[in-house]
Amino acid sequence: MPNCPECGALIDLDEDELEEGETLACPECSSELEVVNTHPLELDVIEDEEEELDEEEEEEEEDLFEEEEEEDNHEEEGDNGFH
Ligand SMILES: [Zn+2]
Repeated sequence: MPNCPECGALIDLDEDELEEGETLACPECSSELEVVNTHPLELDVIEDEEEELDEEEEEEEEDLFEEEEEEDNHEEEGDNGFH
């Protein structure tokens, strides 16, 4: 009898009745198994995991302090006393 590659449980199956490419479920861990080879019998776990990619985009807040130096031209006008 084949062993479950996932949990190692014996699976009550007749190896002669299995065909390559056949899928079955493990009675112990209910993993989906695929018969990848019959001689010798090889079972492969069909992992049906949906990979959810949580892409955490780290937004780097670039605080651009544009230092605008305002040049205040204080023109000192000479006070010429014209009359
Ligand atoms: Zn199992």
